Amino acid sequence: MNIVERKRPAILIYLEALLARTPSHRPEYPFLTEKVRRRTAGFAGESWFDKNWLHYETSEPFRVIPDFQISSHQMDALCIFPTFIAIIEIKNISGFIEMDHETRQLIRTKDGETIGMANPDDQLYRHEKKIQQLTNYKIPVIGIVVFTNSTSVLKVSNIKRKVIHLSGLPYTLDSLIEQYRTSPKFDVHQLCSLFLTCQSPIKPYNPEPIPYPLLTGVFCPDCTFSTMSYSRDFWRCPACRLKQRDAHLLALQDYRLLVGETISNREFRQFTELRSRTNATLLLKRSGFQTIDTHKSLHYIIPEMDLRDKRK
Ligand SMILES: [Zn+2]
Repeated sequence: MNIVERKRPAILIYLEALLARTPSHRPEYPFLTEKVRRRTAGFAGESWFDKNWLHYETSEPFRVIPDFQISSHQMDALCIFPTFIAIIEIKNISGFIEMDHETRQLIRTKDGETIGMANPDDQLYRHEKKIQQLTNYKIPVIGIVVFTNSTSVLKVSNIKRKVIHLSGLPYTLDSLIEQYRTSPKFDVHQLCSLFLTCQSPIKPYNPEPIPYPLLTGVFCPDCTFSTMSYSRDFWRCPACRLKQRDAHLLALQDYRLLVGETISNREFRQFTELRSRTNATLLLKRSGFQTIDTHKSLHYIIPEMDLRDKRK
């Protein structure tokens, strides 16, 4: 594989859990829904971009590092070729998009509404400087803005960097390979290792305390807000009749993200609304989680999970 697997962003995983556990009458609910929608669209654009590499054919070796993070820089993708490095800024935005060199703004007009957004050209300018510094200014670094939504209409005036639709990426890369054909060649794998070793460790997302009580229960993965009940070894949804043995794992993931990384039998029963202590013990034991004994009670350490990842 030429591409390192892209993980779902920690903030999206957190926001999905918070949305699932927020009562729909809370004033925060519509804002959270919009935040999750925007982050999901962003990630869908990035995943769509990644998939396109599977069909890209060139005789040149190359590697792609998705979501490259170093100090205060977050780059959607770093594409390493023997004679150049392309930094990609991915935008999954629909509507009419204008980028202007003079105002340094990205303006989106959709359904009669016009909003300003962060200018990807300025983001790339910063990133290019960082990558040039890391490679001692020896290899050309090129910033490319890629729009993944094929319905967006781009109007770009006097922007020095390449601003393209995703479908134009193979042509743009082939042109760059041709342009730098006679330039000094570097070892792609060595460069890739250099970037991976200096990448900042992923920072855990530290959210603000939640100012309202969270919804409890084990939710049906297919029906929003339908609480499942546990009987005869299965969680059962009264609405759609789905039965699942491990539906409580998603509740545990939510607990880890929103409440704490460890859970006692009592806390588990409270959060999942499971009445039976014996069943709770059985389910917690079966999870295979590590435990810590605090003298007062046994706590299970909930591991990091991403059970809402639809790619699995
Ligand atoms: Zn259901």
